[in-house]
Amino acid sequence: MSASRLRPLIAGNWKMNGSRAQTEALVQDLKGRLASQPGLAADLLVCPPAPYVAQAAALTAGSALAVGGQDCHAKQSGAHTGDVSAAMLADAGGRYVIVGHSERRADHGEGSELVAAKAKAAHEAGLIAIVCVGETEAERDRGATLDVISSQLEGSVPADAEAANLVIAYEPVWAIGTGRTPTPEDVATVHAHIRGLLKAWFKDGPEMRILYGGSVKGSNAGSLMHVPEVNGALVGGASLKAEEFWAIALAAAGA
Ligand code: PEP
Repeated sequence: MSASRLRPLIAGNWKMNGSRAQTEALVQDLKGRLASQPGLAADLLVCPPAPYVAQAAALTAGSALAVGGQDCHAKQSGAHTGDVSAAMLADAGGRYVIVGHSERRADHGEGSELVAAKAKAAHEAGLIAIVCVGETEAERDRGATLDVISSQLEGSVPADAEAANLVIAYEPVWAIGTGRTPTPEDVATVHAHIRGLLKAWFKDGPEMRILYGGSVKGSNAGSLMHVPEVNGALVGGASLKAEEFWAIALAAAGA
């Protein structure tokens, strides 16, 4: 299978938004849409805040909608007040976890070495790690995008990664939550670069999914989801609205 034909993954990062009631409403809405289109050629994932992971997982039992966490600790248990481990997310019914999101890198000073340890912990707990990388606007302006992506990837992807447990999300920091997106040509350049590195490092590098993230919505998904080497989307704001999230899924699936 060529890498550009990998089954797309549309992942919703709810960030620090939601409640029990909103989790119920959004998950039930997406479940209903999926049930009405069982042949949809895309995987759907929602990543609610940690307190709602178990609730979302219980609601999705028996459906194709997957659930994940937004972060995990590098250790599976211990004296780490306020943290959540990959083992706990798995125990709560999660299948994926996002690590290295730029908001965690910025708000919590997380570096690539820690991100790699978190991804490794995710793998040990049987989760699929979604490793995020992306350049800031200043890095882009000085023409350093590909260098930044190379070094973040090199530092953040653990050696035990394989296509079954690793997804990369390319998220330009300046495009997250801003309504701005790179051109499809720029996305193609970065994704081709990431694919080249994954192929050089891993036997199954051609099968590892590479998501684009940053202000994806229903109206721009058509142009972004069909860029070569884009295998789905990591969606923030638009994942809180079932209609928008579904429109992105349909665009990615070519439905
Ligand atoms: C994100 O937080 O991963 C993201 C891509 O956010 P948004 O879609 O809101 O830009």
